[in-house]
Amino acid sequence: MKKIAVLTSGGDSPGMNAAVRAVTRKAIYNNIEVYGVYQGYQGLLNDNIEKLELGSVGDTIQRGGTFLYSARCPEFKDADVRKKGIENLRKRDIEGLVVIGGDGSYRGAQRISEECKEIQTIGVPGTIDNDINGSDFTIGFDTALNTIIDSVDKIRDTASSHARTFIIEVMGRDCGDLALWAGLSVGAETIILPEVNVDIKDVAEKIDNGIKRGKKHSIVMVAEGCMSGEACAKELSKYINIDTRVSVLGHIQRGGSPSGADRVLASRLGGHAVELLLSGKTAVGVGIMNNELTDTPFDEIFNAKNQKFEHSIYNLAKELSI
Ligand code: ADP
Repeated sequence: MKKIAVLTSGGDSPGMNAAVRAVTRKAIYNNIEVYGVYQGYQGLLNDNIEKLELGSVGDTIQRGGTFLYSARCPEFKDADVRKKGIENLRKRDIEGLVVIGGDGSYRGAQRISEECKEIQTIGVPGTIDNDINGSDFTIGFDTALNTIIDSVDKIRDTASSHARTFIIEVMGRDCGDLALWAGLSVGAETIILPEVNVDIKDVAEKIDNGIKRGKKHSIVMVAEGCMSGEACAKELSKYINIDTRVSVLGHIQRGGSPSGADRVLASRLGGHAVELLLSGKTAVGVGIMNNELTDTPFDEIFNAKNQKFEHSIYNLAKELSI
């Protein structure tokens, strides 16, 4: 293998730069030329591709976002359109493509490897949502978790001053991991997420019991994939008359300098992606499972989506917030 390309696609996440850096430097270390595709699959179609040198990824490991930019490119689902993107790789003799993104981005990579046998593709899980099967953690999850913790710690100060119940809506798409891990970390009274059925009447009862016991305030953590913070407040108001405020954390969760854990994860996964290309693997996503670097075929990743929810952590959070 002499030449590879790397792109970031879909929703951005902190640590994507560290992953691009790892792919680039590991490849150059192995005497492979690296090309950066700007703006994800859109850039692949537009031939927005430039050679990356060691220095191209200098001073990026600490930066949030992605210097390669990301984009949504719905046209890439069309096989005729994809041909153009594949041609832009072929004309440079690129034999390997590393796609850093979520499962939509993996699907694009899978199509490329099916339609062009000369190009191996490897997916690297980059999303704050932690919703990619085949890896215990995705790049950006830890940073987003810490952003939520920091925000809720501040909200708790005002919640306790005013004896209020705060409902915090966090991201995660259909996955409740951000709500779960953040809920445990901030000592939320209740965590509402898609993987577990929660009766709002029980939530109201728990808050009421807490108030009767002398609790000054409560934090309810809601995953956006389950319901909005506003909907939660409305439902609660049917059962209990309390002073509630809703805080939707929004896109701050996607930003910021990557945490140490994300920098290490991105470096390991990016480096492993290049190792897999060198070993001839294709159509697999890299991951980390029980601290071991792994690779899982795209098909398996798609079919088992979201099956890694840790019920034991949910139960522990419940036990600790009685
Ligand atoms: P994420 O990668 O974060 O899940 P998206 O689902 O938006 O984000 O996917 C990112 C991009 O991947 C899309 O804009 C599109 O270019 C490409 N993509 C998504 N699904 C497919 C598909 N079924 N076939 C080909 N390309 C796809």
